[in-house]
Amino acid sequence: MNVIDGIYIDGGWRRSSGGESITVVNPYTEEPVGRASVSTAAEVDAAVRSAHRAFTEGGWPETPLDERVEICQRIAGLITDRAGELATTASASMGAPYASWRTLGDSAGLIEMFTESVKRIPFEYLRQDGFGNTLIRRRPVGPVAGIVPWNGPIRSEVKKVIPAILAGCTIVLKSAPETPFGGAALGEICTEAGLPPGVVNVVFGGASTGEALVTHPFIRKIAFTGSTDVGRRIATLAAQEFKRLQLELGGKSAAIVLDDVDLDETLPWLDAGVFRAAGQICFANTRIVVARSRYDEVVGALAQRARAHVLGDPFDPATTMGPLVADRQRDRVRGYIEAGKAEGARLVTGGGTPAGQPRGWFVEPTVFSDVENSMKIAQEEIFGPVASVIPFDDEDDAVRIANDSRYGLGGAVHSADPLHALRVAERVESGYIAINGFGIGGSGPFGGVKNSGMGRECGVEGFESFLEYISYPVPAGFADELAKTVSVG
Ligand code: NAD
Repeated sequence: MNVIDGIYIDGGWRRSSGGESITVVNPYTEEPVGRASVSTAAEVDAAVRSAHRAFTEGGWPETPLDERVEICQRIAGLITDRAGELATTASASMGAPYASWRTLGDSAGLIEMFTESVKRIPFEYLRQDGFGNTLIRRRPVGPVAGIVPWNGPIRSEVKKVIPAILAGCTIVLKSAPETPFGGAALGEICTEAGLPPGVVNVVFGGASTGEALVTHPFIRKIAFTGSTDVGRRIATLAAQEFKRLQLELGGKSAAIVLDDVDLDETLPWLDAGVFRAAGQICFANTRIVVARSRYDEVVGALAQRARAHVLGDPFDPATTMGPLVADRQRDRVRGYIEAGKAEGARLVTGGGTPAGQPRGWFVEPTVFSDVENSMKIAQEEIFGPVASVIPFDDEDDAVRIANDSRYGLGGAVHSADPLHALRVAERVESGYIAINGFGIGGSGPFGGVKNSGMGRECGVEGFESFLEYISYPVPAGFADELAKTVSVG
């Protein structure tokens, strides 16, 4: 039984003074696996003050970039050392198969992407043109509030903490109540890697802890990943003090399948796009928009893939799909399945509870055909293993369907001709569209448009909102002196 009793602050644990706690329940066994105290407003205040001190007095923003990079590399090594343990607590708390999480929990590659990207940022340059001479510097914005959901334990935490500290910011991270242990481990790892006290602090709890954090006057930027509704609430709160916002929110992404695809190649991507992590992925391709001439074939093949999934114990290597994170989430997904049937979509496969699983919050991989894009199952984020397969008549129709959504996060276009797929993808309103694939790769910026959020994370561009531009207009003679040591850009 993992127990968190307090907050991670100033490089160590400070015990809570008692009070509320959250029980973490294993979605497969339905038994408790741990507990975390709910951080109070006073504890959040202490954590933010620690981050503020580390920023204003601790010298972290002035620490040379090379040193910050070295510390992050040590963090990566320590995460790798603990990858087995981290994947175990992740699977036990949110139900994703251990075998897949073992590699995802190892975030060394992700950290390397950040450390390589930050080196490409010009932190200081001189602009000399007909308008005058200006020294331009990029400075960290200040203490950051990082808030994460439960569906990507440790990777989500890494995506908040590492860019913040590489940029020279300090951070208070709030873990998700369902998966508090990754954040706790990351706090300890940061200290072990030599990060000065107060640069990374971790608090625990749900909405009340989160609101105490985002409204704290010392917080200058909020990096949030979670649902659109909570993102909207946070944006409203942040507006009072014009805090910087980076919001990675929900999605209802479309995979467009053109009529020339080789289905053997496309099918594994469609399968992963909707069923990986039991559909609990923000950029899941849960609307599959298919050329009418291939529609029946795709529906049949996808249903076959759905039936082939092995649901069971996340720690059994044969398991390809675990349970959903919580009973409330299972009930929510079931509600959508009923709504799909009531609105006239055809349930091709799934929709129920798997046979032979007496416990665990499972929902069978589900495929709906004959879906109209206006139906609830095509418009709302289900966050479960439910595919809505929608036919299109021509490419204009495919693009219209894909764009007929309040979201714009992920997506894909599949074609035997990747250039043709790219031409279609260019017309889709979304922040991240794969050509003949699914999933996050490379070091491109990730984020959404419309109700899927604002700002980007990852890549060089992901540092943008952690940094402020400061301009120093200087006299011409001094500018010439500076030009000997500062790059001109
Ligand atoms: P959620 O919005 O309920 O919670 C996310 C986090 O916000 C949690 O830590 C929660 O405790 C905290 N929170 C809740 N209310 C708050 C408030 N009023 N003020 C401050 N913090 C508050 O989301 P969830 O159920 O944990 O995660 C699923 C959602 O996250 C889905 O909508 C999914 O699409 C989205 N998501 C988006 C991305 C992305 O990169 N765009 C990635 C993963 C998940």
